[in-house]
Amino acid sequence: MLAHKPDPDASFLPGRMDKRVRQILAGLNGPWKYPEHPGRLTAIKQLLDLEPIPGVHFESGSAATREQLNRVHTNAYLEDIFQLRGKCAWLDVDTTAVSPDSIAAAEVAAGTAVAAVEAVAAGRTESAFALVRPPGHHAEPVRARGFCLFNNVAVAAAHAQAALGYRRVMIVDWDVHHGNGTQDIFWADPDVLFCDIHRAAPFYPGSGRLEDIGAGLGEGTTVNIPMPAGSGDAAYLKAFRDILVPAAQWFEPELILVSAGFDPHWNDLAMNVSYEGFAAMTGILQALARKHCDGRLVFVLEGGYNLTSLSHGVKAVLEVLAGAEPPQPESCGIAEVEAAAAYHREAFIPPDSDA
Ligand SMILES: [Zn+2]
Repeated sequence: MLAHKPDPDASFLPGRMDKRVRQILAGLNGPWKYPEHPGRLTAIKQLLDLEPIPGVHFESGSAATREQLNRVHTNAYLEDIFQLRGKCAWLDVDTTAVSPDSIAAAEVAAGTAVAAVEAVAAGRTESAFALVRPPGHHAEPVRARGFCLFNNVAVAAAHAQAALGYRRVMIVDWDVHHGNGTQDIFWADPDVLFCDIHRAAPFYPGSGRLEDIGAGLGEGTTVNIPMPAGSGDAAYLKAFRDILVPAAQWFEPELILVSAGFDPHWNDLAMNVSYEGFAAMTGILQALARKHCDGRLVFVLEGGYNLTSLSHGVKAVLEVLAGAEPPQPESCGIAEVEAAAAYHREAFIPPDSDA
């Protein structure tokens, strides 16, 4: 997955898309690098090697099969993508691109999400975290976008249903961007409850309105929670407790998957979630998984572009999965303020007061 590294200086397949993207890039102030780069994964691995978490065990994934990818992507799309092996090409004017080894990397990303679900299904672990790239939640049945080629979490959910016998799968997407691809794939599927908390449109990708709840048999199994810029731990945790908990109670999932992006962290600028916030959200999902699905809980990495908050965010999640008590970030500092208020209280009593 480190071999997926589009380089704008390489020569890309010529054509209208290349011209358009080059025009867009030329309009930027200064040089442009592909934002979703291999350093994201190495930063996470380096931190976990440097500060190992007792109880966390590493396993390798493998490439997803054509059959696994075909459950959520069309034949025509897969044929088009597979023809890009060995080439550099733009896939969307949003600058999503492939380098020569990107298709193989994307197959391994999807296959590793599948492997994480299989590890949990086999009972080798209660929970798992698929550290993968390219990410997946923007990839639609027939379209790559948002740096995503194959929809990893959707491939994993479809595999859980088709091959492992789980009928009802809940997907929680806390990446700051709306998971338009995952929503599309399961839009009319009553057996996948898709819950997405994200920064509201017009923020990229512009979808995920409150009123978008699915259609057909799947009407009611899409839940969007659009949030204003700057929302932090208290708002996220309120959304989890007031919306996701009763939704899970109603849906009774047999497996919970999480599209875990770390771009809601305040380092990534769009939102204000802290490490303690990610840990607390993990604690709520872990409790839901233990209540409804024997603890089966699988995280799949999505976005997160600040390497510090990406790596420390993943670590905060893993610590809770490995047994740490989840914090209560909303109460951070409250006890100290109460103690300080008591300490200073007498200082501010007016001199002529009777009190
Ligand atoms: Zn994102």
